[in-house]
Amino acid sequence: MSQASRAAYCQRLLAVDRALALLNEDEYGWCVTCGKDIEPLRLEIQPESVLCVSCQQ
Ligand SMILES: [Zn+2]
Repeated sequence: MSQASRAAYCQRLLAVDRALALLNEDEYGWCVTCGKDIEPLRLEIQPESVLCVSCQQ
C-alpha cells in the first residue's frame, strides 16, 4: 500500500469511527454542523458522512 493510499485509508477509518460513535448516540443521519437530515442517498453512497452536502462544500 502506498503512503498516499494508506493516509486516505486511515482518514476513511477515522470517519467511519466517528459515524459509528454518532450511531451509538442515536445521532446518525443528521448533519453535525447544521443539524439537518443527511440525504439518504448520500448515506448510502458514503455511510460515514457526518455532514450534509451543503456543509461539506
Ligand atoms: Zn449541514
